[in-house]
Amino acid sequence: MRTYTTLRLILGDQLNEQHSWFRQVDNQVLYVMMEIEPESAYVTHHIQKIVGIFGAMRQFNTQLKANGHAVCYYKISDQNNQQSFADNVDTLIHQYQIQHFEYQLPDEYRLDQLLRTYCNQLNITSLAVDSEHFYTQREDLTLFFKQKKATIMESFYRAMRKKHDILMEDTEPVGGIWNYDKENRKKIPRKHSIEAPYLLKHDVGSIYKDIQTANLKYIGHIVPKAFIWPLNRQEALNLLDDFLQRMLPFFGLYQDAMHQEHWSLYHSRLSFSLNIKLISPKEVIVAVEKVYRHNKVVDIAQAEGFIRQILGWREFMRGIYWREMPGYQQLNKLDAQRDLPAFFWTGNTKMNCLQKAIQQSLDYGYAHHIQRLMITGNFCLISGINPTDVDNWYLGIYMDAFEWVEITNTRGMSQFADGGIVGTKPYCASANYINKMSNYCQNCHYNKKEKTGDKACPFNALYWNFIHQHKNLLKSNPRMSMVYHIWEKFGSKEQDIILQQASKYLNNIEQL
Ligand SMILES: Cc1cc2nc3c(=O)[nH]c(=O)nc-3n(C[C@H](O)[C@H](O)[C@H](O)COP(=O)(O)OP(=O)(O)OC[C@H]3O[C@@H](n4cnc5c(N)ncnc54)[C@H](O)[C@@H]3O)c2cc1C
Ligand code: SF4
Repeated sequence: MRTYTTLRLILGDQLNEQHSWFRQVDNQVLYVMMEIEPESAYVTHHIQKIVGIFGAMRQFNTQLKANGHAVCYYKISDQNNQQSFADNVDTLIHQYQIQHFEYQLPDEYRLDQLLRTYCNQLNITSLAVDSEHFYTQREDLTLFFKQKKATIMESFYRAMRKKHDILMEDTEPVGGIWNYDKENRKKIPRKHSIEAPYLLKHDVGSIYKDIQTANLKYIGHIVPKAFIWPLNRQEALNLLDDFLQRMLPFFGLYQDAMHQEHWSLYHSRLSFSLNIKLISPKEVIVAVEKVYRHNKVVDIAQAEGFIRQILGWREFMRGIYWREMPGYQQLNKLDAQRDLPAFFWTGNTKMNCLQKAIQQSLDYGYAHHIQRLMITGNFCLISGINPTDVDNWYLGIYMDAFEWVEITNTRGMSQFADGGIVGTKPYCASANYINKMSNYCQNCHYNKKEKTGDKACPFNALYWNFIHQHKNLLKSNPRMSMVYHIWEKFGSKEQDIILQQASKYLNNIEQL
């Protein structure tokens, strides 16, 4: 009977071929990977997300075996799969007379607790090692902000640029300024032609069938013969290459734009590959800086705008997550209590901006940042939807949604439920902003200019209602003072009519 001394667990978002674990083949080490029901059922996930993770895990398993490593792989529909980390690992420990158990530090608090508890009761030794993916360690952000008054992303980002020598000339930022955010706010011009996104065409029929056999619940749509997301490292690198050549030259410029005919515009769609660790943030950033320095087509505003998202926001959100959990998942500073409307699961709404953003989320498991923040997120914020419903929707629907980066963006940046830990003010807006940054309003049932009446855009009345409701909390915020000044200028009669309109819409929210 074959035995091993060490068992190493690889989670579904730890598909990092370059991890030091895999540098050498050790015939005393057995790896284990498992597709288990509880990991797909803690919220209802998009079918493409389940297929994508299982598909990438299966390819990783094949690659490891081809490289000579021993791997035990449990498919979701395997008879001997006990659908639990602990039970499957216990069986292997017993079966192969394992003396030592190892895992990579998970990114999720829930799994971190689960694995710690599991290891504490083992009667063999165990070890948690780094996942070797991020620039920072879990506690780096906490240490960085310890002596500072406020947790501002920009100061963290600048320190990261200096520390890792990214877009720097000696001690100064390339181009003389740190942040080109002001140049990232253009709408797509009418005659500008946008290239189609680079899409893969995997046949994932057999994984889809296994998911059906296992009876997993899911949302969203899939074309099993034309699955578009990368399932291995090479495909992720190809997507990166395509982004560098065709999309990066316009990335910063149109970063905040939205368009009803183009679902990903100039965005990279690398978040799924990054979050399951097919590629590392470092190799993406190095590649972008190289293109900027050697290819005159990409200017500093595009390169900096992109690098800020990964080196700044991504690492910042991870640090906030580990500093604030587990309390963060209970925060509800604005006391938002309304249920998420059913149209979030169907796209069945007359509001064109929401219809398009939700529909593409159901079709692709993807919406870009401004759609998540200023369309779906903004609607939930100004309608007072409870942040747990909002979290569950975001965590389920997006390919790239893993709690550490989902909850900080949703409960924090988008819903302001953390009272300002992540953002300095709520991202709330009326139709004016949506119309400025997109072409959604052109084809809408509602009128973007009206605040009251049957055809008035719901975003208008709901926006002013939100401002009014949270006056005590927000009025003293210097970034909100102009808005309160405008609201006061309306006068009490007009204010009342707008508030009545908002209340009518909120009472009939499912019909909007
Ligand atoms: C309400 C809400 C929920 C979100 N949920 C998630 C989530 O579950 N998972 C996730 O990865 N991102 C999330 N984001 C951040 C961002 O919207 C996505 O990372 C981005 O849309 C992914 O698409 P992309 O790869 O084309 O990004 P690009 O626009 O091409 O950006 C490049 C990369 O920068 C990183 N990035 C950009 N913005 C952020 C950000 N705010 N926080 C962290 N990383 C960022 C991502 O890794 C992304 O791949 C959320 C944002 C909001 C407003
Ligand atoms: S009019 Fe209002 S609801 Fe319609 S697309 Fe514009 S912002 Fe959205």
